[in-house]
Amino acid sequence: MIAHLCCSVDAGYFLKRLKEEYPNEKIIGFFYDPNIHPYSEFKLRSLDTKRICEKLGIEYVEGDYNYEAWLKAVKGKENEPEKGSRCSVCFDFSLEEAARFAKEKGDNKVTTSLLMSPMKSHEQLEAIGKVIKRKYGVDFIAVDYRKKGGTQAQQEYAKQNQMYRQDYCGCIYGIWQQKSEQEIIDELISPFPFQILPASIEEKLSFYENRLKLENEGINYKIVKENFLNYRLLKSLITSKKKPIFHYTLFYSLLDRPQRVRIETQKDGIGYANRAQIIFIKISKINELLNKTYKNIKEIYQKPLKLDEELIIREKITNTKYSLSPIIVLEEFEEIRYDIDIDAKIYPDNKEILIKF
Ligand code: SF4
Repeated sequence: MIAHLCCSVDAGYFLKRLKEEYPNEKIIGFFYDPNIHPYSEFKLRSLDTKRICEKLGIEYVEGDYNYEAWLKAVKGKENEPEKGSRCSVCFDFSLEEAARFAKEKGDNKVTTSLLMSPMKSHEQLEAIGKVIKRKYGVDFIAVDYRKKGGTQAQQEYAKQNQMYRQDYCGCIYGIWQQKSEQEIIDELISPFPFQILPASIEEKLSFYENRLKLENEGINYKIVKENFLNYRLLKSLITSKKKPIFHYTLFYSLLDRPQRVRIETQKDGIGYANRAQIIFIKISKINELLNKTYKNIKEIYQKPLKLDEELIIREKITNTKYSLSPIIVLEEFEEIRYDIDIDAKIYPDNKEILIKF
């Protein structure tokens, strides 16, 4: 039997029950979810689903990330609500692929862990099951393990196994609808240059990879959450007489409105603006403080600083990691007026940390 899998929380308990109900069946877990945005989230959900399959002794296959084909399939349905027609197409897309995969493997049964999710309609899934039976000749096994306390047992199982819990269904359109209250929707931001930002999907992916290493080494651990102040730079534009100035803006730089400033005081590669607590730092000073060899700003974008390194610079210049003064890296200082426009957000956030025993 091919069990299409959507995420570890839905797959874990579902597969456990499926194995109990079908003890003689060889079950293959098929993670096919090109609907998931962004790709790093797809990899993260796949990583944790694979881990659960391995715990249950179930073969795991990660399907292709056919993102563009999925986008084409749901075209015109972008604004549909959850459980609406976009979701029907989305289920069709995944379950048809699962049915094709079953045919390829010579199997004649297909099911899906989507049946476990309280956010998904059983009726919709069963209707799609009838279509794939007609089209591909494979039976759709519409088990309902949510009944009789199943949902509660599923949550307990997910907690016991410290599974990764996403907070949106998966697609880019669902994120808008499901996270509209959030100040920053991280899944819609890709930092430039590529840097692993706090509480980003990339950080979570690396966190769960580390957790897997601990498990493989037999080290006991507990995942707990901590609150912290997060930051995202949305725009940083510096011009002089309307000509752009190549620069790099450090983490935690905050400016409430655009400013026209000049460098009033400078010492040892650090310049202080005449207003708005803006600090400039020469690239040569970055090299000196961090033992780097950047020749120009372009190289910082090509070989980005680590976040910790940016905080070290901030601490060395302002005596605290938590100052919010804009710190801007330039190649050289000039006797000109700089027009500075920074759009950034500081907001309370939380992230998971590992406690090892
Ligand atoms: S909300 Fe979920 S089920 Fe609906 S289209 Fe998006 S990913 Fe698919």
